[in-house]
Amino acid sequence: MAELHKFIFDGLPVRGMLVRLTSSWREVLARRSNSGDAFAPEVHALLGEMAAAGVLMQSNIRFNGALVLQVYGDGPVKLAVAEVQDDLAFRVTAKVVGEVPEGARLEAMVNLHGQGRCAITLDPKDKRAGQQAYQGVVALHGDRREPLQQLSEVLEHYMLQSEQLDTRLILAANDEVAAGLLIQRLPVQGAGNLETAVRNEDRIGLDEAYRRIALLAGTLTRDELLTLDADTLLRRLFWEEPLRRFAPMQGEAGPRFVCSCSRARVGTMLKSLGREEIDGIITEQGRVEIGCDFCGAKYHFDPVDVGELFTAPSKQAPGSTATH
Ligand SMILES: [Zn+2]
Repeated sequence: MAELHKFIFDGLPVRGMLVRLTSSWREVLARRSNSGDAFAPEVHALLGEMAAAGVLMQSNIRFNGALVLQVYGDGPVKLAVAEVQDDLAFRVTAKVVGEVPEGARLEAMVNLHGQGRCAITLDPKDKRAGQQAYQGVVALHGDRREPLQQLSEVLEHYMLQSEQLDTRLILAANDEVAAGLLIQRLPVQGAGNLETAVRNEDRIGLDEAYRRIALLAGTLTRDELLTLDADTLLRRLFWEEPLRRFAPMQGEAGPRFVCSCSRARVGTMLKSLGREEIDGIITEQGRVEIGCDFCGAKYHFDPVDVGELFTAPSKQAPGSTATH
């Protein structure tokens, strides 16, 4: 199971979202450990926070394509990736190259020498010719160059920089649950040319509303975020606020683990390596085995499969124009 709850505060320029990934998160971890390559708990926590954050950011901007969150650097975790499609299907993986110290946080995992970065990529689904993915990159340190220990701080920074939106983000994950709470200030209507239409004291009042609600959100502990159900959590935090909730998004309409890998895609990738390269592997190992880093699926190509791969006509009809 996994669920996403959206809410607003009546009459206030503030909106929020709460995501909880439960059985779908455990499935991700189970697949990883079944493939014999389980991550350290610290890496689970990072990936879970990234998955939760990715779902929140994707449903916040409703981008028609994939939102890819990457954290990479010079620590034992070389790369961590969370990808969330526009239908909220998510998947995660990491490349771990060294021992992750117990209790390691962002700095000890990816930012040992200050080289760590967080990249947010928006990859459009139906790319027009020449269209490229948009990517924003932020460093893993604060304004005074202090290394940040929490992914939420990095992403708050990113959203302020890229979208000029004040955002409060609280993330937590363990081996059971990955969860996140997002509170965001909405642009006040009447800004810009219509500035005078919003009286000053009203504006101050609306700013205060965001600050108050963000402050309340900030009192949420990691433990509460991981253990409380959505109803209890939202009531506990915002019982004095004019909270209006929308129907939760769950099941097929909500966030869920889906891997987009397929035998056909692996075939296309092998083809791009060239016949010579693949024949070399066949000679050496008898067959080609490709594992998916995201879901642990294994794809095998024996000499017959490889022969078919390179002789089968391309699916693209001749003369038609490629759109991706
Ligand atoms: Zn896969």
